[in-house]
Amino acid sequence: MKLRLTNLRLDLNMNEEALATLAARKIRVAPGKITSLHIIKKALDARKNERVEFVYSVDIQVGDIKGIKMNPPFVQPAPEPFREQLKRGDALLSFPPLVVGSGPAGLFCALKLAAWGYRPLVLERGFDVDRRFQEIERFWQTGVLNPDCNVQFGEGGAGTFSDGKLTTRVKDPRVRSILEQLAEAGAPEEILYLNKPHIGTDVLRGVMKNLRRKLISLGGQVIFGCRVTGLKLSPEGSLAGLEVGQGEIPASVGVFAIGHSARDTYQMLFDQGVLMEAKPFAMGLRVEHPQSFIDQNQYGKNAGHPKLGAADYALSFRDKERGRSAYSFCMCPGGVVVGAASETGGVVTNGMSEHARASGRANAAIVATVDIPDFGDGCLKGMEFQRKWEQIASYRGGGNYYAPAQKLEDFLQNRPSADLAGTIGSSYRPGVTPGNLRDCLPQEVGETIAAAIRHWDRQIKGFIHPQAVVTGVETRTSAPVRILRNERLVSMNTPGLYPAGEGAGYAGGIISAAVDGLKAAEAIISHYEKPKEFF
Ligand code: FAD
Repeated sequence: MKLRLTNLRLDLNMNEEALATLAARKIRVAPGKITSLHIIKKALDARKNERVEFVYSVDIQVGDIKGIKMNPPFVQPAPEPFREQLKRGDALLSFPPLVVGSGPAGLFCALKLAAWGYRPLVLERGFDVDRRFQEIERFWQTGVLNPDCNVQFGEGGAGTFSDGKLTTRVKDPRVRSILEQLAEAGAPEEILYLNKPHIGTDVLRGVMKNLRRKLISLGGQVIFGCRVTGLKLSPEGSLAGLEVGQGEIPASVGVFAIGHSARDTYQMLFDQGVLMEAKPFAMGLRVEHPQSFIDQNQYGKNAGHPKLGAADYALSFRDKERGRSAYSFCMCPGGVVVGAASETGGVVTNGMSEHARASGRANAAIVATVDIPDFGDGCLKGMEFQRKWEQIASYRGGGNYYAPAQKLEDFLQNRPSADLAGTIGSSYRPGVTPGNLRDCLPQEVGETIAAAIRHWDRQIKGFIHPQAVVTGVETRTSAPVRILRNERLVSMNTPGLYPAGEGAGYAGGIISAAVDGLKAAEAIISHYEKPKEFF
């Protein structure tokens, strides 16, 4: 019988071989009685930074459990593995399902459909990872933006050029299968059990290619450089096809996994009458600190230990005076700030790191919430609001996608920085122009962020670091709209259209988007039969 044991603790000087001894001690048997041990979870406990420990959950096999005292949650039978209960439906499907977007939502949706024999066709406006890499490098070096292929658009979606953090608050058995598929495609095995797994952009690019190969081997197809520009609707208003460039592809099922930055596609869906609503989001800036400072703060004397790597942080603050919240977001230890624009004439920041997280710099978005009263009533008003502030940042940055940047201390004082001397500088490319980021944010957003940073300076002592620098603006934190769908995950008023993932407003991050993509695939499989005509 398999047992699950939790809260096994190893300090930094102990090796994982010691787990068997700890496990045996916990259930009071001789170590030799444990026939197998498998790590399920590994988390870092650095709350008392002078005593940093790894905390494990393990599954063990013991020959005879007679006499072993259960003590949930520390000692209990291991849970049964999740068994999917999916049955194919019987509605007629005349054409292969189309999936718009190859981000985590679209890709995992397509993989599932392909595994069930539905031969999905993925339409992706950006290029494959290799060509996309070249387009993005060109943008970062020269400021020449390709609005169809950039940090937001292209194979693998928005997260391909990211830190590849796989943490999620979503508790869903599908998460395990997503992690397994990522590991099978080349992500490090440790993502299966680390509490805060991450892949890194360098590794993620190869993983995305391998997942595409898998999709094709299962009968799916991908067309890159193919932007969906319109819907073809039947007289009853159901999906009948998608317009792409000069052509049209017939379809009765189309999954829209378009991400949160496809503003032209939002506009098209809105113009064609697809039901959607505005939703709140958050905006702000990126802050960069020396990584050694964050490590020192989180790990104390253990900072720099090879088992620890670069430290992260997660902060939040409620600004009662202004009725807003602020929080750190998408923290990238050992990473860089990236130019993440997707629209001509707007500056957007985000963060990215390689697997080794070795840049020596820590960056995180610091954002405050914005809601309908900030941007006005109207479905696409939030999107227009984002665009407005991105254009202001572009103007303040001086053009060519240069971003405004400022010493953190100056941001708090609301005074422009004449230069970034004495700071670690900004890692944002194509480049930065010193100035005042307060001018690039709604007044209250700037004030809430400043109040939050002052508050956090007490939590991470010295957070208002003389070498810290801020760059902005960070506007693409989540979708500014939600495309409404019913309990079968189909659009409320356009049968056949399945809004999925972050762009549709049902996810926030790589894993939750992939989970939502899987749910969309399951909804399609359980409704439609695999049609005979094209198989
Ligand atoms: P997306 O990944 O945005 O994919 C949508 C795809 O649809 C795009 O490839 C786009 O080109 C395509 N598309 C859009 N419109 C059309 C059209 N009309 N026709 C054809 N194709 C179209 N999340 C994390 O969990 N961890 C991280 O570390 C992390 N870091 C990030 C760093 C950066 C720089 C960025 C930009 C995002 C990061 N995120 C991170 C967020 C994460 O990437 C997204 O939450 C996730 O990718 C959303 O998945 P999605 O499939 O819903 O949409």
